[in-house]
Amino acid sequence: MKINEAENLYYIGGIVRDEILGTKSFDIDLTYVGNAIDFVKKLDDIEILKINEPFGTVRIKFNGKETDIASTRSEIYEKAGHLPTVTKIGCSLKEDVLRRDFTINAMAKNIKTGEIIDYTGGLEDIKKKKLRILHNKSFVDDPTRIIRALKFGVRFNFTLDENTEKLRSEYLKNVNYDMSYKRVKKELIETFNLNSQKAYDEFCNAKIYKLITTGNINKPEINIENLVDKYKSILNENNIWLIYAGTIQDLANLEPTFTKDEQKIINDFNAIKDKELKNDYDIYKTFENIRTESILLYALLKDAGTAEHYLNNLKDIKIEITGKDLSELNIPPSPEYQECFNYILRKKLENNSIDKLCELELAAKFFHDKI
Ligand code: ATP
Ligand code: MG
Repeated sequence: MKINEAENLYYIGGIVRDEILGTKSFDIDLTYVGNAIDFVKKLDDIEILKINEPFGTVRIKFNGKETDIASTRSEIYEKAGHLPTVTKIGCSLKEDVLRRDFTINAMAKNIKTGEIIDYTGGLEDIKKKKLRILHNKSFVDDPTRIIRALKFGVRFNFTLDENTEKLRSEYLKNVNYDMSYKRVKKELIETFNLNSQKAYDEFCNAKIYKLITTGNINKPEINIENLVDKYKSILNENNIWLIYAGTIQDLANLEPTFTKDEQKIINDFNAIKDKELKNDYDIYKTFENIRTESILLYALLKDAGTAEHYLNNLKDIKIEITGKDLSELNIPPSPEYQECFNYILRKKLENNSIDKLCELELAAKFFHDKI
């Protein structure tokens, strides 16, 4: 059998939504009504790459492209906020869509006939630009959906329907912190890497940060989106989310999920935030070896003027002479080399027109004055 002739195979979720919205999809999700693993074994125009028996999913290669096919499945949340347990593989399409997050993500399109199956009113909600959960316990089962709603809301310019908004605000008043922060983090990354002040404003105003902390947020007066845009070329775009999330006062729940890089960004910010910076030399020395992400946190939470002064005016000032130049001046290597470099740096920060020749003269003077 050929894959496109399969009667029980459906595009599902995001791809159906995106086609209706006329936007580009990130990935293709397919679901088979029945057991997808048994099904793909009957196909003769695909290659099976990987089978995941307990979840009933299979990765295939078709027309040179890799795609996952899931079996329809029903799930229950035995422990709220954690991964659900699969109760049945090969359930009806209706049962499968009812475990999903929002009506706009719960539509299926038959691969053979093109028919759209919409059990939950997703088409209507797309027209109304609304995000609506499928049942009243949805956020209790999986609070990451609150962040997913933020993400889709910003991406498509949709708002929460009234009941969904009410349930969100009820949940946020009574968060169960025993949840999978790995999943929370994944959604935070996808949301805040969009670099949207609008998303951040809603994150603060609707108190979505309560998912992460019982404490508060240090909402900066500065527009984060503009600040990030300004310095995008000198930061790692995968870390943008952390500039937003870093404004949460207590990150203890997220910290166990941090990579070394992410932890360093936060640690470096914490290490510099209370330093007294009296002059350009202090500023330069404080910021010279830390990432732009930590510096932007400093700009947002501490002092934008100082941080931007470093990034705009000081960052690229470098002394040109090296140890080799000093030894050519017949100065024997010693820890005083570093003192000399710092001395020249101080001068250069006061007067950036100092060139290499001047630096050599300053070096000679530095060692002469020492004798
Ligand atoms: P994107 O365009 O960001 O990939 P998507 O809707 O395809 O959006 P995915 O995270 O790829 O989202 O998930 C695929 C589908 O799985 C969703 O459309 C939704 O039906 C379902 N889904 C994903 N995450 C959840 C969740 N936390 N709770 C319920 N259903 C979910
Ligand atoms: Mg997707």
